[in-house]
Amino acid sequence: MSVLIKGGRIVTAVDDYVGDVLVEDGIVSRIGRSLGGGADRVVDAAGRYVLPGMVDPHAHFETPQAGTVGCDDFTAGTISAAFGGSTCVVHFAVQERGQGILDALAHWQGLLRAHPPVVDVGFHMIVRDLDVPGALDELAALPGEGVPSCKLFMAYKGGNMVDDETLFQAMQVAARSGALVLVHAENGSVIEVLRRQAIARGERTPEHHGRTRPPLTESEAVGRAIVLAEIAGAPLYVVHVSCAEALEPVRRARASGAAVWAETCTQYLFIDETALARPDFEGAKYVFTPPPRPKEHQEHLWRALRTGVLSVVSSDHAPFRFIGQKTLGADDFTRIPNGAPGIENRLHMLHHFGVRAGRLSLRRMVELLSTAPAQLFGLYPRKGTVAAGSDADLVVFDPEREVVLSAGTHHSNSDYNLYEGTRVTGTPEVVLVRGQVVVEGERLAVEPGHGRFVRRDRFVAP
Ligand code: MN
Ligand code: MN
Repeated sequence: MSVLIKGGRIVTAVDDYVGDVLVEDGIVSRIGRSLGGGADRVVDAAGRYVLPGMVDPHAHFETPQAGTVGCDDFTAGTISAAFGGSTCVVHFAVQERGQGILDALAHWQGLLRAHPPVVDVGFHMIVRDLDVPGALDELAALPGEGVPSCKLFMAYKGGNMVDDETLFQAMQVAARSGALVLVHAENGSVIEVLRRQAIARGERTPEHHGRTRPPLTESEAVGRAIVLAEIAGAPLYVVHVSCAEALEPVRRARASGAAVWAETCTQYLFIDETALARPDFEGAKYVFTPPPRPKEHQEHLWRALRTGVLSVVSSDHAPFRFIGQKTLGADDFTRIPNGAPGIENRLHMLHHFGVRAGRLSLRRMVELLSTAPAQLFGLYPRKGTVAAGSDADLVVFDPEREVVLSAGTHHSNSDYNLYEGTRVTGTPEVVLVRGQVVVEGERLAVEPGHGRFVRRDRFVAP
């Protein structure tokens, strides 16, 4: 099977030129002007961008939480990803307490086989328990299984949260095994006290989700994680940085040359704390963690994306339905499942409000959404660029077509969209994964199972 993509504007993190891309056997085989010869399929990309497939390094499918389970399985979640131009997702597998780490990986591989994906999927491992016999050795073995990253939670006391001893030990293992350590950085002990006190005062509505997680609880944990990683000699990646206070320790660490990277997520650039106060419990739709912040933080995040303090924008796709799932917390905000859909609209939002609005160059957008996550997570140059020899994960993007983002048209099973009614210009038109067209306009062009588990390489600093 060969595909010739003709006359598109090829944009990577470093290039921007018009040319043809020939795909053979799932790989980009040639790039040039006026490539001739026969191909099984020719895609006219005149007036379109040809981008590397977007890589989303932060998503949760069919993940148990708050007595329910995230509403997109691997099939639904990766279909939603594909329609948004993401051709590779790195997903969080979870070690249950008392469970072996390799058993946890096998469990999540089983779910991936049961609900096969349409785009490629890698795993990070959420580590919860290092007291299980053999846990440190199994953690050290993960990079050899194609899983060179683990994540630890400094929040959710009584749930995913680990203490500093566990966090530090995981960092030591990562340092010698070639893994990147991810942290959910919030001070979970302080937040637990604030939540208990709020409930005792009768403060039970969604806006208290935000009030009980003030920015300093995030920045304290970011700073602590950076120091612990430095002591352990481990590279660190801070997920979902949401506020100016938490950018500061990242900025300092990076300026000093430390092996520290950080992402924000689409929603922190667009949703502010007032969303939590929407009437009729609608605020629960915006209960994700860290919470949406006061609007003035958004400009700090955009600036950090421009200046390199932040390296990636991910989605933190963690969808629940409003009716029946978010409503579990109707009279107690601490029972609202945390998270929101977003995997389908990351590129839409960053292109329209980032590139078209003049906040980001097109190349910087590609870097933030594709190249940098591919590099940090052991996928580059197989993924994250358009180059001879790379996987033909490609997005033919129409920069002039207008679409309206809505739960009525998105492919997540969630019954709401964070950006409902938002009109954006620019949308993926044809999406290929390893040379196979997976999305064409409104149509899904493959059966579930085209996507595969992707083994990633050991961490190397970009
Ligand atoms: Mn998190
Ligand atoms: Mn997350």
